[in-house]
Amino acid sequence: MSLPRHPTFARSLVTPRGRTVTLPVFLPVYEARSALYSPAELMATCGAEAFILNAFFLYRDRAMRDRFRKQGLTLQEYLGVDCPTMTDSGAFQGFRQRVVLDPRKIVRFQDTIGTDIVSPLDLVTPPGDGREKAREKAEVTLKRIAQALPLAESSLLAGVQQGGRFPDLRRWCTERLLEIGVQYLAVGSLVPFFTQNHDIALACRIVRDTRAMVGPDMPVHVYGSGDPVELPFFLAMGANVFDSSSYAHYALGGWYMTPYGALRDAGRLSSGEYRCACPACAQADGEVGTFADPARLTLHNLWTILETLRRLRHALDEDALEALLAEVLDVHGAWFPDSALRSSWESACDG
Ligand SMILES: [Zn+2]
Repeated sequence: MSLPRHPTFARSLVTPRGRTVTLPVFLPVYEARSALYSPAELMATCGAEAFILNAFFLYRDRAMRDRFRKQGLTLQEYLGVDCPTMTDSGAFQGFRQRVVLDPRKIVRFQDTIGTDIVSPLDLVTPPGDGREKAREKAEVTLKRIAQALPLAESSLLAGVQQGGRFPDLRRWCTERLLEIGVQYLAVGSLVPFFTQNHDIALACRIVRDTRAMVGPDMPVHVYGSGDPVELPFFLAMGANVFDSSSYAHYALGGWYMTPYGALRDAGRLSSGEYRCACPACAQADGEVGTFADPARLTLHNLWTILETLRRLRHALDEDALEALLAEVLDVHGAWFPDSALRSSWESACDG
C-alpha cells in the first residue's frame, strides 16, 4: 500500500478582492435564520476564518435582495465581520425541490454583493443517477459554468465537477473545466452522498484524480465535507478546501464530534477516555455537560472541525501527516469496529 507522504498543493489563496485564505481551510456554513451564534462569535470561540453562505436565500428574499442590490449592503456588513466568503447558488435547494432561478442572475448577484468565491447553479448528481443522467447533468453544469465565468468579475468562480459515481465522467468533467479556464475546482455531489459508513474509497480516488489533473496551485474543494474523521484522508489525497453545516446538524441530532468519529452516547466522555480542550467543554461540567446541551455542542463540534484543520496544517508543516492518519485509523477502528474507514482508505491507496 502506498500512502501519499505529503500532498502537494498551495498553502494560501489570494482572492480577486485581495483577501488571503490560508489553506487548507474549512468554511462553516452560516445561515442566519437558524444560526445560534454570529460569525464574530464563531470566529472568536472556534477560530473560524471564513464562511460559506447560501446566496439563494438572500436572493429569494426580495427585501434582502434590494438591500444588497439597491442600498449597497455588502456581505461583510451582513455578516458583521470582514473575512473571506464563499457563496452557494441554491443548487442544493434545486435538488430538493423545484427552484426557478436564472443561472446567470444568481451568479451576477453573488459577484455584486462582495463574495470572494461564487458558485454556479450546478446540477446535483446523487448515487442513484445512471451514467447517461450523470453525463447530461455534467453537460448542463459545464455549459452554465462557461456562461458564468465572465460574470464573476471581482470573484473566483467555482468550477463544479459533477459526474456522479463514474470516475471517468469526473475526469472528463475536470478536463472540460480546465479548458473553460476555471481557477477553482469544487468536487460536487461526492460527500456525503458516497461516504456511507465512512467508506471513502470512491471519494478519495476522485479527489486524487482531480488533484493530479489540476496541478498544485488550484484549490480543490470537496463540497459538503464536514466530518473531522474523514477530512485528513481527503486532504492526504490533495483536497484543501472543505465546507459543511455538519457542526450544527450533528449537534441537533445529539452527535458529539471527535477527531476519531462522532459519539452518540456519553460513555467515553463520562469515563474520561476522550477529553476536549474546546471552550464549551472547559466549563465546570465538562464534556458531559456539552453533550447534553445542543447549543454548546454546536460550538464544540465546530471547534473540533477547525482544530482538525489546525492539526492538519501543523502536520503538513512538520511532514507528519502519515503519523496523524495512522493515529486516526487506530483509534477510530477501536471505537467503531464496523466502520469501513480503514478498508476503504487502504483500497483507495492501492489504486
Ligand atoms: Zn469540546
